[in-house]
Amino acid sequence: MEMRRIRRFVLALLLVLIPSLAAAEADDQRLILVTMDGTRWQDVFRGPDPALVADKRFTHPDVKETVERTWKTGADLMPFLHSLPARGGVLTGNRDAGQCMAVTNAMWFSYPGYNEIFTGRADPVIISNDKNPNQNITFFEWLNRRSGFKGQVLAFGNWDVFPFIINDKRSGVPVNPGFEGRHPTETRTMRAALDALREKKPRVLYVGLGDTDEFAHMGHYEHYLDAVNRDDDFIAELWRMVEADPVYRGKTTLIVTTDHGRGSAAGAAWTEHGSAESVRLDPAGFTIPDPAGFPGSEEIWLAAIGPAVRSASKGGACLGQNQIAASALTALGQDWKAFDAGAGPPLSFVTKP
Ligand SMILES: [Zn+2]
Repeated sequence: MEMRRIRRFVLALLLVLIPSLAAAEADDQRLILVTMDGTRWQDVFRGPDPALVADKRFTHPDVKETVERTWKTGADLMPFLHSLPARGGVLTGNRDAGQCMAVTNAMWFSYPGYNEIFTGRADPVIISNDKNPNQNITFFEWLNRRSGFKGQVLAFGNWDVFPFIINDKRSGVPVNPGFEGRHPTETRTMRAALDALREKKPRVLYVGLGDTDEFAHMGHYEHYLDAVNRDDDFIAELWRMVEADPVYRGKTTLIVTTDHGRGSAAGAAWTEHGSAESVRLDPAGFTIPDPAGFPGSEEIWLAAIGPAVRSASKGGACLGQNQIAASALTALGQDWKAFDAGAGPPLSFVTKP
């Protein structure tokens, strides 16, 4: 008699506990967002442009053959990102395949782009990369003010404007915690991000990689390609750590994207990016200040994998950079409309896990 009562009690307890354990699991979703500054969809999907590899202005003749031999396709250049669709993830923005993704801001350069990624909408007031503290609230900041996320949002980036875009002072989201005051090289940024994932285990990790844009502005195509390849390698390492760590495995969504593209016209246009409006506002900010701007630099791409990500449908309407914030929040099981009902809606292939 007594035994039966105990059994009944244990059974009742389990019925109560199991669903709440499952709910706790769903409440513990995590996010890693990585950006690769000014990385063109053309290079991501087509691989190195033969014309730029053959052009002595952009690729040193000594390495031409090595580049041609090493990276024939986009998958050679970014093997990890190209492996995502076969693993249930998404890699989109390949205009050759009828896919489309673009920024919605009118500037086509970094601060406006990162602001759009982090807040879910273009802000016409932001027309420079100047170190102005962002007046807008990013989804990082919004999360950092919520229970369950406080102190759980960490950002790393090798561009000294990130602390202003994320407004670290107001938001309380630390940018490059652990190496304040030291020059954030990309290698240092990567190592610090990997260390943070291993040791601090934040629920939200942002990593902003900038070498791609730096080398492109210098006109060093082989170094730009090398940075693209190295970034892919780093992202693969992040994902290996996620899969090996029970804190992250099965509950982490990874999103990889870029703040803007680059000029797609032949010749030196690939070294630059910006709209006609941005050239008009600051012609001195461009090495080739073409009054027409650099068409193509509004074109971006995105990769994603994780429990929130479903396979993408082919083609369809052009995706917007302003949809990334709502997608990130949705992947975390959050109500993006509570963050900003006017933000771009989540990408169609991202749903609450
Ligand atoms: Zn740039």
